[in-house]
Amino acid sequence: MKSTSSEIEKKRSKNIQEVSSTHFDALIIGGGINGAVSALALRTHGVNVALFEKNDFASGVSQESSNLVWGGFKYLESYELKLVMGLCHSRNRLARAYPSRLVEKRFLAALDSSSPFAPWFATMGANAYWGIGQFATKRPRYRSARTIKRLEPSIREDNLIGGIEYSDHLIVDNDSRFVIQMIVDAAERGASVGNYMTVLDAEYLKKKWHLKVRDEVLDKEFETTSNVLVNTAGPEVSKICNMSNTKTESNLVFSKGVHLIVPRVTDSGRILAFFDGTQRLFYVIPMGECSVIGTTDERVKQHEVSVNGDDIDFLLTEANRKLSLPKPLLPEDIISERVGVRPLVVPKGGVDHDKDWTELSRRHEVESDRRYRMISVLGGKLSDCLNVGEEVVSSLEDLGYKTSKPSTRWYGEPSKAEKSIFFHTARKNSIEDDMIKKLWRRHGSRSFEVIENISEDRITGDNLSEKIDYCPAEISVMKNHEFIYDSEDLLRRRTLIGQTVSPSQLEKDPGFVSLLDLLEK
Ligand SMILES: Cc1cc2nc3c(=O)[nH]c(=O)nc-3n(C[C@H](O)[C@H](O)[C@H](O)COP(=O)(O)OP(=O)(O)OC[C@H]3O[C@@H](n4cnc5c(N)ncnc54)[C@H](O)[C@@H]3O)c2cc1C
Repeated sequence: MKSTSSEIEKKRSKNIQEVSSTHFDALIIGGGINGAVSALALRTHGVNVALFEKNDFASGVSQESSNLVWGGFKYLESYELKLVMGLCHSRNRLARAYPSRLVEKRFLAALDSSSPFAPWFATMGANAYWGIGQFATKRPRYRSARTIKRLEPSIREDNLIGGIEYSDHLIVDNDSRFVIQMIVDAAERGASVGNYMTVLDAEYLKKKWHLKVRDEVLDKEFETTSNVLVNTAGPEVSKICNMSNTKTESNLVFSKGVHLIVPRVTDSGRILAFFDGTQRLFYVIPMGECSVIGTTDERVKQHEVSVNGDDIDFLLTEANRKLSLPKPLLPEDIISERVGVRPLVVPKGGVDHDKDWTELSRRHEVESDRRYRMISVLGGKLSDCLNVGEEVVSSLEDLGYKTSKPSTRWYGEPSKAEKSIFFHTARKNSIEDDMIKKLWRRHGSRSFEVIENISEDRITGDNLSEKIDYCPAEISVMKNHEFIYDSEDLLRRRTLIGQTVSPSQLEKDPGFVSLLDLLEK
């Protein structure tokens, strides 16, 4: 059981009371990206919906990605044109809808004599990718070995034969924050959402789903009902099927992926891409003041995974082979680690031989079961989340439910008009432009509240420390709206602090004690 204040207890008890006395149109199990986007899409289409997550929101696979919103350039290798077209379309929609949370990044793919493609061929591929992506990003460019060395001195020269520069998008503040913002948006539009709420049992009786749920914070069990059940339990989709006596037609297999966070490798802001010794692409991706190196791709049987010595050895050896740093990266340079499994879909009747598993499509499947009124989401990516949301709404309609068309776009950051009012208000409060942009990106409409706090007490607008670039005014707004129950929720998932500052540095940081005090207040 988590430590709680009486205020939290009151809030959660009230929530339990409301949820257990409501019959919902749809109940969602799982608060990763698929659950988040389903909750937002259903709610904005007039559906009375609740979402339960057994841990913190976005604490499953959705906090372990590469933080990329991309059109799947590498799937052109296996000629999956339809998949790339769909992903590019989804990427472009997301980038237009979240112009501050997503940023276009240049990727520099450096090729050497052992790479599977010659630079001229990679350039052709990059141009095709740009075209498939409707020319929505900056145009790709061929780069000679000499230019690469000038642009990125940290890239090793040995055997370098040239490369390409092309664009995709990066989630600036972390995958998990992106997901949680979506859940908070759904809650503000009337969805009931609860983290630390485990669905223990699901039974379909007399055309209703009956769920038994445990509130892990209060250590209390309760029941609730709905017409439809939405299974977005990520790698645990089949566990929910077993619990509810249902089946999906497609199945999942898992591929483990590890990222290591190390001190910053390049100041250019570019994402560096290389082929590793197994001819797979790996990346060096910016994260705050650090770089993220990854990823591995290893078939595993279980979804519970951890980083081992071989993973660290593999990633550091590959990075040191491709980078020329003042000193090679060593295990003691690792600030933090990320590890999770990609849930890959094996379609109905599809083969699952060990040899072709890497070829499995990275496409998602949204299945609906008329008999049990169940919708299951298998696989998927952050990049493709809007399609998942819309397919879940269509599946609900196919099950015979009427939804209502939202009067405005169902996803995305607040409107341009609201943004310009915020910028105007913040400037009137003498807040600097960099801070205004950061607040808007991090908090959207809730940044008005941050400004109110700062105008009441200017000192709450100062960052807690150099490494903790959050001010008390923001922390208090996050505490009020973002379902934070302990410091890990804030450090690992709502901010980048827990990944870019090592525990020993954090302990010494003067702002850390103040941060903990603010959370406990
Ligand atoms: C290494 C790696 C790199 C990746 N990189 C990218 C990338 O750059 N871009 C991209 O778009 N995608 C990427 N992906 C893919 C993407 O991250 C995942 O496909 C996506 O996050 C899966 O989301 P999900 O909602 O299905 O699962 P999850 O995020 O795992 O959510 C499922 C949730 O269900 C909850 N749950 C399970 N059982 C219960 C229960 N009984 N009661 C309540 N809750 C329950 C779990 O706790 C979990 O939080 C990457 C994945 C990996 C592993």
